[in-house]
Amino acid sequence: MKTVTFEKCAELLHNADNILILMHRSPDGDAVGSGYALAHALRKAGKKVMPVCSDDIPEKYGYITDTLEVQNFEPEYIVTVDLADTQLFGDKLIQYKDKVNLCIDHHPSNTGYAEYGIVDAKAGACAQIIKKVINAMNISIDKNIANAIFTGISTDTGCFKYSNASAESYQMAAEMIECGADGFFINKLMFDTKSRQRLEIERLALNSLTYHYDGKIAVIFITKEMMKKSGASDDDTEGISGMPRQIEGVVIGITIREKDNGNFRVSMRSAGDKDVSAVCAEFGGGGHKAAAGCTVTGTAEEVKEKVILAAGAAL
Ligand code: 5GP
Ligand code: MN
Repeated sequence: MKTVTFEKCAELLHNADNILILMHRSPDGDAVGSGYALAHALRKAGKKVMPVCSDDIPEKYGYITDTLEVQNFEPEYIVTVDLADTQLFGDKLIQYKDKVNLCIDHHPSNTGYAEYGIVDAKAGACAQIIKKVINAMNISIDKNIANAIFTGISTDTGCFKYSNASAESYQMAAEMIECGADGFFINKLMFDTKSRQRLEIERLALNSLTYHYDGKIAVIFITKEMMKKSGASDDDTEGISGMPRQIEGVVIGITIREKDNGNFRVSMRSAGDKDVSAVCAEFGGGGHKAAAGCTVTGTAEEVKEKVILAAGAAL
């Protein structure tokens, strides 16, 4: 992947049309915010463009997705946002894995699968890089773009609470509010609103909590049975991965979710300076130093043991 400047990135996008913007599977606020902010901006520049995702975008992001009219076209230029690895394209988008023209991302573990790219691991959210790309293209930021960028920054920094929230994160968020973003509405919806199913899955998840290595590791285990019993969807479990790390004395918080065919999705969160991205890389995953994930296959017991051992070795 050839690293490009913001000027070059703007030029590439100005010269492109019929642009498909790929977001990662299980899309989060930063993926959706980055994808839709860039799409809105490129529409303003007269482009045909559509953000796409292998999975359905959770309904709570409707205030972002509903503002962009659907366009159908034969894609000519492929851009990815917030997408570290072709593993995260998902079934519907995997066809583009060797065809990505431009990658805009903030994951240090980005595998460099694209032709051109801007990867800034210092950016708290990919949306912060998108904002700079839009500025470099000389496109003005309207309310729709501002809401999308604000959402990306706010969600990826855990409402400005994580270590990745930098002065730039706060400054850009403030600028987005000046451009019309509804910060109160967005933060209330993202952080102070939970579905009843979410509360039910939290109740069950907490019952599964175990401690290891003198309480330095805490593990939550979510089975398919628990999902069924609570009526929760995958959207409802977003953010649960942050819970084990909130416990006093926990250095690495782990959430394991049972998926189909003996696959388990593992989310790791570091409370201090331990690098969980390196732990997840041992299982072919990745992410950020303080928040990473991987998929591990086996029986529930095997997966739990392997993952706890690997995390324990990182203490
Ligand atoms: P989560 O635990 O919320 O699924 O993911 C935390 C972070 O790790 C996100 O930034 C996500 O992009 C990254 N991540 C999660 N799973 C994987 C994976 O399987 N591979 C890679 N490379 N990154 C992942
Ligand atoms: Mn992100």
